[in-house]
Amino acid sequence: CGIVGYIGNQNSQGILVEGLKKLEYRGYDSAGIAVFTTEGLQIVKAQGRMANLESRLDATPLTGSAGIGHTRWATHGKPSDENSHPHTDNTHKFSVVHNGIVENYLDLKEELIAGGAIFTSETDTEVISHLIAREYNGDIVKAVQKAITYMRGAFALGVLTEYEPDKLVAVRQASPLIIGLGEGENFIGSDIPALLEYTRNVYILNDGEMAVLTRDAVELMTIEGNFISREMITVDWDA
Ligand code: GLU
Repeated sequence: CGIVGYIGNQNSQGILVEGLKKLEYRGYDSAGIAVFTTEGLQIVKAQGRMANLESRLDATPLTGSAGIGHTRWATHGKPSDENSHPHTDNTHKFSVVHNGIVENYLDLKEELIAGGAIFTSETDTEVISHLIAREYNGDIVKAVQKAITYMRGAFALGVLTEYEPDKLVAVRQASPLIIGLGEGENFIGSDIPALLEYTRNVYILNDGEMAVLTRDAVELMTIEGNFISREMITVDWDA
């Protein structure tokens, strides 16, 4: 339902939580974040209101300057802690937030389980993290592009991997996603209000496009890997 992401020099937890709160109006049944900490990619998530996630984060704060967050509106799998996003793979080296639906997830799930994937949720989303892990061969952008070729449906994605902690990958396929541009920091959001407190400079992704964010740059390309350029938009309204 709602996606936020951050890569920069500030601590990301507060930015992700505040961004998710700005998306509350869309409705949701659970929320979660993943952050690169000194102990690797750590996920905290909870069914219910943002207050549930926040009290878990009070107990186990995540410290790190890159992360992704999600508010979920369940389509496949009941609202529960396990079904909340972000989702990961067997190795816990990959982390994915997803808006939309992977229509062929049952076929993909069967194939992934046959290949050794261990599923911990009932969501369609979890196939994405296992697919990306399966396709990973040293290049997260290529792995995401390859994974997408197997997926049918509508999706916006935020993806992190512990193997490339300086990158945040975002994809838009029939579910909205924007990129926010800062100084030494960049953002993703499913919606402009999530980012307005931090930046007014944005790129709007079109269907079939993706972005690779580092702290200092944003590269835009099609999901086939052809680089594109886009005019930056400066948002002049308030949420
Ligand atoms: N289909 C996914 C799920 O049920 C994502 C739903 C959403 O867009 O929040 O977990």
